[in-house]
Amino acid sequence: MEKQELLVLPMRQKTPYNWSAGIYGSKFFAELGENAKIYANKCTKCGFCCIYPRVVCPRCSIRMPYWPDWVEVGPGGTVRLFNIVEQPFFNPNTGENLKVPMTTGLIELDGAPVVLTHYLEETDQERLRLDMRVEAIFKPKDERQARISDILHFRTIE
Ligand SMILES: [Zn+2]
Repeated sequence: MEKQELLVLPMRQKTPYNWSAGIYGSKFFAELGENAKIYANKCTKCGFCCIYPRVVCPRCSIRMPYWPDWVEVGPGGTVRLFNIVEQPFFNPNTGENLKVPMTTGLIELDGAPVVLTHYLEETDQERLRLDMRVEAIFKPKDERQARISDILHFRTIE
């Protein structure tokens, strides 16, 4: 029998897993879900603020304060960057087709120099602009699941 080289076929495998949010992340998401509040933690040495709260400052590598020494931010904020998606696509986590146009923004939240990327309610290109004021719109309490998706989107407030 003639020796034949075997083919190697690439294959993607779906591997469900659970991801621990850790003690800082757990508190952050619990506050979103239970109280509809957004918190950042602030480095006691350099003042850098983090969303999502981190254990170690990414700038100076010292341990960041834990709850309750966090800074409440938002729900208001200012859009510093945005993009509009007009090409139809689906959520890779759920397979659900997403509505287009869809807009995301980099939002500097009131209360600390910190930004969060999230959906913007406004999708009209004529009305979108940098520095527009927005506020977080949360799901009703009985629908929140301690996830970033507890914030539906950011709505224009001016
Ligand atoms: Zn620092």
